[in-house]
Amino acid sequence: MIREAARYALARVKTRNHSSDSELRKALMLLLEISDPDETVLLCETACTVRNESSGARMAVRALVETSSLCNNDCYYCGLNRGNKKAHRYKLGREDIVCCAKDAFSHGIRTVVLQSGEDGTHAGEVADTIADIKKIGDIAVTLSFGERPRHEYALWKEAGADRYLLRIESTDPELYASMHRNRKLESRLECLDALQELGYQTGSGIMIGFPGQTAGHIADDLIFFTKRGFEMIGMGPFIPHPDTPFARAPSGSVRTTLNAIAAARLCMPNVWMPATTALGSMDKDWRPDALRSGANVLMPNFSPQEKRKLYSIYPGKRCIGERTALVQQECESIARAGGLTVDWSRADAPAFAVTLGKASSAGPA
Ligand code: SAM
Repeated sequence: MIREAARYALARVKTRNHSSDSELRKALMLLLEISDPDETVLLCETACTVRNESSGARMAVRALVETSSLCNNDCYYCGLNRGNKKAHRYKLGREDIVCCAKDAFSHGIRTVVLQSGEDGTHAGEVADTIADIKKIGDIAVTLSFGERPRHEYALWKEAGADRYLLRIESTDPELYASMHRNRKLESRLECLDALQELGYQTGSGIMIGFPGQTAGHIADDLIFFTKRGFEMIGMGPFIPHPDTPFARAPSGSVRTTLNAIAAARLCMPNVWMPATTALGSMDKDWRPDALRSGANVLMPNFSPQEKRKLYSIYPGKRCIGERTALVQQECESIARAGGLTVDWSRADAPAFAVTLGKASSAGPA
């Protein structure tokens, strides 16, 4: 039974018919808290219609390579935090990383995402690796190395990097401080400014359901994403890691995560949004449900098999058992279950696809 209030909130967010941020915030909070089955179906179907009309019923594929589990940070939620003495640390060399990228390319994937803890790797070493990957062929390089000085982001852009992912985690300075030791929201915002100014296709995002986060916080974060015009948004449930200060906290809610994806899609029709590995690592694989809520990206793991379990940001990561040889069938099968077809192109953000002259990346609108 769909309440008038839910219908009204949905229409408000979808048509962006709101006179102030506080009205939009209220409508978003209502959508985030929806649990009635009829209302969730209406929310998710509306989000998918918005996505399909703006960028097509397609799912892009990005190969994830976890290049290092070393980290100098103390994020209270993350298994890689430097205080975790039980973690086994590794760092891939340049040749290993290029080998993973070649493997992805040979499986028809045209984006590689290099992600690591904040390990302080020499910027020149990263630039050389990016340049090597770009020699493989027409493959987009996305980086996710956390906060680094602007001149290093600039060096990597010059070396050929196309995109950068840096989750804001929370736009509330106090909440942000409560989940990170000795880190300020301000410096994260400065990094995101630098990345956008340097011309990266920039992604951000949040976990859903970590300690202290409310629907109001998530609504504020969604408004922030919309205003900043990011090209990519990643959202997945918080999953407690036993060797972190947040070990005893409950996992984030799958329902709220799916609602957040749908609400984000209503606010940002063109954004690339993954069905995250965290959603695939809960009680069941919820990634098809994420696609049915407005997501449109899948990130199969291309890290060397023996290293995957060592990149333990949270327990139970589904990708540990993923078989690279079957990646194409698995992508096709998840896309089909999510009501989409696979787009094997680089799938750049629309504004950048025009600049790059990639016809294959442009959506129908
Ligand atoms: N060091 C880089 C950074 O901080 O952007 C990239 C690696 S970091 C591990 C990637 C993302 O993993 C974080 O932005 C965070 O949102 C997510 N993450 C970390 N711990 C998590 C947990 N326990 N549950 C769910 N997601 C988590």
